[in-house]
Order: sequence, then structure tokens, then C-alpha cells
Amino acid sequence: MAPSKAAPDLYSSFLATAPGAFLAKQAGLPQPETLRRYRAGEPALPGPILLGGSGRLVDPTRELLSDYVFADTAGRATEAYGALVFDATGIESVPDLAQLFDFFQPAIRDLGPSGRVVVLGSTPEQAGSVSAQVAQRALEGFTRSVGKELRRGGTAQLVYLDPAAATAATGLASTLRFLLSAKSAYVDGQVIRVGAADSDLTAIDWNRPLDGKVAIVTGAARGIGATIAEVLARDGAHVICADVPQAGEALSATANLVHGTALALDVTAPDAAEKIATHLNERHGGTVDVLVHNAGITRDKTLANMDSARWNTVLNVNLLAPQQITESLVAAGALRAGSRVIDVSSIAGIAGNRGQTNYGTSKAGVIGLVQATAPALAEQEMTINAVAPGFIETAMTAAIPFATREAGRRMNSLLQGGQTVDVAETIAYFASPASNAVNGNIVRVCGQSLIGA
Ligand code: NAD
Repeated sequence: MAPSKAAPDLYSSFLATAPGAFLAKQAGLPQPETLRRYRAGEPALPGPILLGGSGRLVDPTRELLSDYVFADTAGRATEAYGALVFDATGIESVPDLAQLFDFFQPAIRDLGPSGRVVVLGSTPEQAGSVSAQVAQRALEGFTRSVGKELRRGGTAQLVYLDPAAATAATGLASTLRFLLSAKSAYVDGQVIRVGAADSDLTAIDWNRPLDGKVAIVTGAARGIGATIAEVLARDGAHVICADVPQAGEALSATANLVHGTALALDVTAPDAAEKIATHLNERHGGTVDVLVHNAGITRDKTLANMDSARWNTVLNVNLLAPQQITESLVAAGALRAGSRVIDVSSIAGIAGNRGQTNYGTSKAGVIGLVQATAPALAEQEMTINAVAPGFIETAMTAAIPFATREAGRRMNSLLQGGQTVDVAETIAYFASPASNAVNGNIVRVCGQSLIGA
């Protein structure tokens, strides 16, 4: 799954040579780790999990991850840890926060390359007393700071579980399995909220969670969209690959590669939702399980130099189309109980970006769309979430001038750009039937970018 027409990361290639690594070390230059990424058949983690904490999730976590290897908690590590997981749901006051120090301080040096830190907490607003809410909220600062300290491709995340959720909730299992794997290579410093909805764990095939499902990916001809199609197909879905009619051959190539179907579709056309509904009626019984609004464009100019066409086209493709298509497909019953809607935002929608008032507005609007729609969709047993990619190696980022591109690529905790597969794996996590309690989240796939932090 190579990124299409991405600009080569020459610095990382140079570092991969012995003289390059030596020179970079001598000069104190950033030394990005080659991140461990998912390969079928390889263990999820390169080493055992050290599990600690005294909350309600310690024992259930061990059961949810019964196929993982756990380290003996007594004594020092005999091999590098693959992950440090701490159940902080038992922390109810500021003095209790010392438990974090006591667990992580001695163990953090023993975390291996591409290691994982995961802290489990209770959703602060629902954590009970003021003291407990304060302590739970504090976990965020701890986790994000650890993310910035880890080296060698390590990442740190915080998962807040609704206190009303069953401890064996599939939403928790799905989230832990994503975070404690190579699939989350470029997700760092994130906070994921898992709700109380439950489902049946026994019915989930973790290797092919989308078996028998139908997915639509817009903008699938190239870049991130093409990789999303590949990953959803790998997970078992039949993928309808949609892109503008001009995408022609590239679109057919993606559809053939994933054994899916091609749908020529401009998402801004007034009849876009109708076209999707007709396609679904003709071939898939009228419904879709996973809808990914990936199609997106940039038309950069500073506001003073922007014309209305640039403004309108970006707002229409990136924001209005996902909103209208989702609304129409829900109204038509094509999206129904169990369906997943996944939007693609951007860190430019969180931090803003010079020359991108149109793009930043559209991508912040996507976050608003997720937050505004999630409660109503939850009532119909659907979810809506978004990824917010940072610097991903694609044709879009290859077009950025060299100096800006190099800065964007390095200014994150992992010191490198992400791959299209990193965005696609996060989308696949949202798409899984096991993620039914993961709703209304915005997960940044940005290597903990300093922009928008
Ligand atoms: P890309 O330009 O390589 O691909 C976008 C695809 O969308 C193209 O195939 C294009 O034909 C299609 N498309 C454009 N307008 C369309 C329309 N009206 N109807 C249907 N299809 C349309 O871009 P990419 O880098 O792969 O980006 C994919 C998504 O990720 C976009 O939403 C983008 O904003 C977002 N994103 C990308 C990055 C990055 O670093 N590349 C960062 C943040 C967010």
C-alpha cells in the first residue's frame, strides 16, 4: 500500500544508511524511528503488556485481551515491554494520581521500540465527585506529556470509558485492540471516549470484522481514499469506490484491486445521494454499512487573495456534500441500525492554517457535523466519527513547497509524516461492528503534531 505520488522522505532514507545515522546523531538532528506497521500473521505487539492499576478494568482487560501476552508484574522486565497499560479508573483524588508515577516511572525505560502506553480512565463529567472528576481530567495532561517524551516510535493514548459501560464492553475491546497494535502506528497523544452501548463479543471476527458488509468510500481513486478502500476490503467489506467521472482509469484500478465496484460520482452534484441510493438498490439491497466521506480538496490562497469560487468549491466538496449525503441516506433508510459514518477532517480544522481559511473552515465544520449528528444517530444505533489527519505522505502534501513540507513532516512527536495506511486503519477501527460504542470522536492521525496541540 504505497502512497500515490508522495514526495520521497529523503531525510529518513539518508538516516537509514550507517553514515547518515552517525552524522544525524553527532549533529543532534531528529532521528525518526521506522514505525512498526500491521502485517497479517505478526503478533499485535512486539513484547508483553505490563498491566497495572487498581480500578474496575484491570481484570476485564486481561480477559478482553486473552490472546495477548502479559508480563509478570513482580520484578524488573526480562524483555522490552510491548505496552504499558494502566487502569486509572480507581483514581478518585489528586493524591491518588501518584499511582501513575508509581507505575510508569520505573517501567517506562523498559518500553521497546514502537511501544504503546495506554491509560484507561472514566469519562470525567460522569466520574462522580468533584475530586474524582478533577483527577480523571488530569489524566489527559499526563498521557499527552508521556507521548511527547517517548522516543523510538512509542505512542501514548488515553481511553475514557463511560462509567455506565459494562467492563467487558466490545467498544473497549475494539479500542484497546486498535491502540495495542501496529495499526495505530501514527496515532499519538489522543483521547478516545467510549460510550455505554454494548454488543456481543462472541460474534466478532477480529481478523475480518467487515465480512459481508458493504462500504462506500468517496475520493477512492487515489491517495488516502484508495488505501481506505484497500484496508476495508482486507477486513472483509465489499467496497464501492466513488470518485469524479474524470478519475476514470485510476478509479477502475482501485476498484479492481479491491474486488469492489466503481461509481462515477461528483459528491457535490445535486443528485449525488440519489445516485448512491440507486446503486445500492440495484446491487446491494438498498443499504450500506460503512460510509466514508473522504473526498476533499484544497484551493489555497490567503483570504485577501481568495475569490469566491475557491471558497465555495472547498466548502461544498469538504463539508456540504458529506452533510447532505449523510442526511439523505439516513432519511432514505440506506443508513440504518449498525451503520457507520466516518468523516475526514484535518488538523487544519483544529489549528487553522495560513492560506487555508476555506479549507480550515470546512474541516472544522466536519468536526461540528460529527458532534451535532452523533446523538441522533446513536438513537438509531449508528455511529459517526472523524479522523483528523496531520501530515500524510500523499500527492496533496507533495504539492507543498519544500521548506514548509519538511517542517510539517518533522513537527510531531514521531518526527516523520504518516502513511495513507495510518489514516485507513483508524477508519477501519471506527467501521468495525465492535466499535458500536465509539461515537462522536475526532481522532487525530498526526503523530502528535505540534500544530493544533
Ligand atoms: P487527494 O487529492 O490525493 O485525493 C482526493 C480524491 O478526492 C481524488 O481522487 C479526487 O478526485 C477526489 N475528489 C475530489 N473532489 C471530488 C468530488 N467532488 N467528488 C468525488 N470525489 C472527489 O487527497 P488526499 O491527500 O488523499 O486526501 C484525502 C482526504 O484527506 C481529503 O479529505 C483531505 O482533505 C484529507 N486530508 C489529507 C491530508 C494529507 O496530508 N494528505 C491531511 C489532512 C486531511
